[in-house]
Amino acid sequence: MKNSTLRMVCLSLAIAAAPAASVAQGQQDFSKVEIKATKIAGNLYTLEGQGGTIGVLTGPDGVFMVDTQFAPLSEKIAAAIKQISDGRIRFVVNTHLHGDHTGGNENFAKMGAIILSRDQLRMRLAKPGPTASGAPGVPAPPAALPTLTYNAPITVHMNGEAVQIIPVPLAHTDGDTMVKFPTADVLMTGDFYRSVGYPNIDRNNGGSMKGMIDGLTAVFNAAGPSTKIIPGHGPVVDRNAVTAHRDLIIAIRDKVAPMVQKGMTVEQVTSAKPLADFEGKVQGAGTTGDRFVGQVYAELKAGG
Ligand SMILES: [Zn+2]
Repeated sequence: MKNSTLRMVCLSLAIAAAPAASVAQGQQDFSKVEIKATKIAGNLYTLEGQGGTIGVLTGPDGVFMVDTQFAPLSEKIAAAIKQISDGRIRFVVNTHLHGDHTGGNENFAKMGAIILSRDQLRMRLAKPGPTASGAPGVPAPPAALPTLTYNAPITVHMNGEAVQIIPVPLAHTDGDTMVKFPTADVLMTGDFYRSVGYPNIDRNNGGSMKGMIDGLTAVFNAAGPSTKIIPGHGPVVDRNAVTAHRDLIIAIRDKVAPMVQKGMTVEQVTSAKPLADFEGKVQGAGTTGDRFVGQVYAELKAGG
């Protein structure tokens, strides 16, 4: 049972392109990817290409950036940033360690940016665990490693913003961060909140369902009624969508928990279709439902 659960989690990791997966990145064709910039508010933009949504705060003090997508896209991303700013990228904060959010770190560091992250994220980039196939993880190059790390909230003052960098413990991973731009009234969450698909708890990298529920509550508390919430993946939403997502996790947990108590296997739980009541409520669900059930099962089985 445990093995199949692990396999399911690992499969999800392979899709998320773990940071060490430079080989997998090399196999992916990024040549057709175009970077689309969208003005969200004032001097704050998002960039979409392939991978996690990037945030860009522009202004006279230079650029503050959230996440870096994949390394082969860095030149295109830098060119897109030049279109909306003077191109001086001063700071990059990583919302979590997955390769579709940190893959460009090395390139942006070499362009002069200072990379910031949680302590845990830096540690996992430097010493990754085994890959999905069980092969030893490949450490990120030294230049990709964040220079400034934190484990409590910090604030970066630039371009008329007091950007709040807020740790979110043990959620999608154990190194998650949300980033709040109070003047623009925008909050970026990374992947512990996503507006497409079911939630994704990367338990191999320290994620947990409980931490995710707590993190989503923290998003609601940090947001006002008009705050634009930018997820790691998917369209911009408001805080009510985040609450609905949290309640979905709780409802699924409460459905799966008695099945775990009865001693059902993960296959039996999946076959019992615990998500039947939620079908149609999750955009772009694809195969993420079964993945999430496997993660919930594993956490409950482990006593979470
Ligand atoms: Zn992720």
